[in-house]
Amino acid sequence: MKDFALKGDILYSKSLNKVSQHENSYLVCVDGKSEGVYKKLPAKYKGIKVYDYSGYLIIPGLVDMHLHAPQYIFVGLHMDLKLLDWLNTYTFPAEAKYKNLSFAKKAYDIFVHDLTLSSTTRFSMFATIHNEATLYLMNELEKTGFKGYVGKVNMDRNSPKYLIETTNKSVKNTLEWLDACEDFKNIKPIITPRFIPTCSDKLMKELSKIMIDKNLPVQSHLSENRSEIEWVKELMPKVKNYEEGYNKYGMLGTTTKSIMAHYVWPDEKGIELMKNGNVWVAHSPASNRNLSSGMAPIGRYLREGIKVGLATDVAGGSYLSMFRAIEDTITTSKVRNCLFDSEYYNVTIEQALYLATLGGGEFFGKVGSFDKGYEFDAIVLNERDIPTVLMSELNLLERFERYIYRSHTNVYAKFIAGKKIV
Ligand SMILES: [Zn+2]
Repeated sequence: MKDFALKGDILYSKSLNKVSQHENSYLVCVDGKSEGVYKKLPAKYKGIKVYDYSGYLIIPGLVDMHLHAPQYIFVGLHMDLKLLDWLNTYTFPAEAKYKNLSFAKKAYDIFVHDLTLSSTTRFSMFATIHNEATLYLMNELEKTGFKGYVGKVNMDRNSPKYLIETTNKSVKNTLEWLDACEDFKNIKPIITPRFIPTCSDKLMKELSKIMIDKNLPVQSHLSENRSEIEWVKELMPKVKNYEEGYNKYGMLGTTTKSIMAHYVWPDEKGIELMKNGNVWVAHSPASNRNLSSGMAPIGRYLREGIKVGLATDVAGGSYLSMFRAIEDTITTSKVRNCLFDSEYYNVTIEQALYLATLGGGEFFGKVGSFDKGYEFDAIVLNERDIPTVLMSELNLLERFERYIYRSHTNVYAKFIAGKKIV
């Protein structure tokens, strides 16, 4: 891989409340990793290629911790129902279509095209229960240059006839799918029980064994909607809370890394389990609003040291843009503050940038920063379409804030692990 530098106005998070700003500087990439930011290009890098983005804002690539690739076909539609009815009425019939590989190819080609142009550089996504379509999606993402996780979904109960597996078939298909994934270099498999209501105790035990044997991460949904939580209580009467429902299978970060999407309604005892392990909350404010699920208390999670990343949750979320997820994280925190919890602080622009980069990036290793040694994921933002006479008075964080609220367009350029994608 060729070494190179980006020249421009460089902004990134150092920690939850601290950003690093470097006007008119150089960001150096060596072997796919950041070598740091310099005001002047050091002599040892003389002669390397410089992409000149002078006047443009350069930030780390954004991390989408939770989305459903197959649901992209109906993004922006069907926001009239709550979670469980929405799944049965719209989502399960749509996902069933991916049994047909030629349908899946057409749908996933559009999805990968749009994701390529977006601000997203890393992700953890759900596919469907179908092996062939899932492998096609993974292959297309790999070819494009993305890095991230894709999960073949497991569901063996409380699912429609046309979108269900027997327990044995679900396990067998998972093992076959994992064998077929071995050749992928950058797109990795993640164990994906859809959520407890659609996965029997026996299936959860088998998936847990596979997860531990093969040291694979796991992703699922947790405490998204109040009817769902009541249902889980009926399905697991001996378990104290929904959190424990996953924890008993080692799926809350006690054995391998874990992502739990939503977590809108924490249980007061269960929340302790979220502080202990290697588990991330994937916060998807648009989806939580669109399906009338609620507003996750992100300010509280941050204060209590729970790991959080941001997510679009297509297609409960109505967009693929992580810029909008950042905006919605901030605005939702303020609405929640007004309505319920005056003691919970707002999510600030600094914190939202952190959550969308380092916060989620940590799940993937050294990702989400421009400090030396981090994987070189960078996006270049174009503010030419949103001019203001105040531009010269703004610092880089203010320019980023303005961009988040004013522009939901795609990126001007994008690099993943040192490879130019856009
Ligand atoms: Zn989801």
